[in-house]
Amino acid sequence: MAIGLEEREDVRTEIAEIVLTEVRGVMPKDLVAQLSLDSPLSALGLDSISTMEVVNRIEKHFGMRFREEWLYDLETCADLVDCIARHADPAAASKPAAPSTLAVGPPPAATASIPAPHYDVAQFPECVAFHERLAGAAAAGLENPFFRTSQRVRHRVATIGGREVINYTSFDYLGLACHPEVIESAKAAIDQFGCSAQASRLVGGNHSLLEELDDELAQFLGTEAAIVFPSGYGTNASLFGHLFGEQDLILYDDLAHNSIALGAAASRAARRSFPHNDASAVDELLRDVRSQYRRVVVAIEGVYSMDGDYPNLPQFIELKKRHHALLYVDEAHSMGVLGNTGRGVCEHFGVDPAEGDLWMGTISKALASGGGYLAGRDKLIRYLQYTTPSFVFATACSPPNAAAALTALRVLREEPERVERLGDRSRLFLKLARDCGFDTGNSHDTPIVPIILGNSVRCLQVSHELLGQGINAQPILYPAVRESAARVRFFITAEHTEEQIVRTVEALAECVAATEGELG
Ligand code: PMP
Repeated sequence: MAIGLEEREDVRTEIAEIVLTEVRGVMPKDLVAQLSLDSPLSALGLDSISTMEVVNRIEKHFGMRFREEWLYDLETCADLVDCIARHADPAAASKPAAPSTLAVGPPPAATASIPAPHYDVAQFPECVAFHERLAGAAAAGLENPFFRTSQRVRHRVATIGGREVINYTSFDYLGLACHPEVIESAKAAIDQFGCSAQASRLVGGNHSLLEELDDELAQFLGTEAAIVFPSGYGTNASLFGHLFGEQDLILYDDLAHNSIALGAAASRAARRSFPHNDASAVDELLRDVRSQYRRVVVAIEGVYSMDGDYPNLPQFIELKKRHHALLYVDEAHSMGVLGNTGRGVCEHFGVDPAEGDLWMGTISKALASGGGYLAGRDKLIRYLQYTTPSFVFATACSPPNAAAALTALRVLREEPERVERLGDRSRLFLKLARDCGFDTGNSHDTPIVPIILGNSVRCLQVSHELLGQGINAQPILYPAVRESAARVRFFITAEHTEEQIVRTVEALAECVAATEGELG
């Protein structure tokens, strides 16, 4: 029997060198001195996206593909070495790396030697592994909680499987998605402009509703200008690579949304995440490295959607000024939610928006529609509207979407009591959940309440049991969060009644107690 790679010390040393080279190529330059086989990848500034970049480079180098479950255990460079030594094909490992340029010359005679998983999509190893996992979960009797289909949604009540349930999975914080005026305006917009914007805003898709929405958003937020993008995700994913390049550094919160992390990864800037909400860690970092870069941007969120907490904005403003850095705030979950009149995290802290640099948000949550926006100084916003790829090269937000957001914004301005009601309902839910002894993490003063159970299987069961009791709440499982932080997450809206909240927390307590028994 051939000797495995993991038993050959010479090969392990070679693998270790390659791993360290690839990690060095991806990690922030100022941490290179800390690089060793035993240092945790997170301490080397590698988040999940940059770890995947290392893995992709390694896959190319060793002609192997990492199965998803191997990724769960990768904490250090030494873990990567072990994984490669255990799974790489010795023959492939000793082959030189595949050339990165396109092969030229006559086609090889024997395409028959190309393995099927390289061209048959159903045999892609990641697809095979994924389907095995789904089948495994089904075989263990676990109901799949994803893609639950609603046949109808009216405010906080959804019809799922023909049955009405109280819904806690909706971003419609202010209950405006089914507001009669919002619905009427969307219908009227279809009559006036049709269903689609039919083109990018730059070249024909710029209908008057969008211009009104830009202006009214800027007024509401208190910024010089604002511009509505077709997608919130696309706004983040495109902006960072557009504004920041090789000489720059992007710092973002550990819990920042995937669109921010991906946007940073897609840029050519150095990037690094920092401990959640830790302004002093950012301060320290900037003290050490600010001068090595041209632009440095700190990206945070107004409210974090996994945990329902928010940053201390004045601290970030103070440090960004002191270090001559830029501040980017994603207000997807704070706009319409924080502040007495729903103007977001600035209003909550009494901060003038002119003190930040870019305020990103979505019209898909409190504004009851679909799309994103960027708000800030007029000079920058005008430049971005002519140049940002996800704005310039994407079909604009549709007329009914623009109309819905515009009307929702007007209703919000006229009925700020919706924000107050949202706050009351959220506080009630949080209080009752805490009174029951649930771990609600850092959630406070926001409509997002995680019930942390620390066990993915249990979260699946609780979510399933709750559905049986007419309550729809999603489990958030490993690897979306650490296993010890697996949770069932509740989004409260201004439309939930006090009775519904009381009943929900009672049902939750029952379901959690029942699964305790089941798991022994
Ligand atoms: N930022 C944050 C913080 C989000 O939670 C989301 C999506 N929920 C987005 C951006 C993307 O926005 P959209 O869904 O409007 O594309």
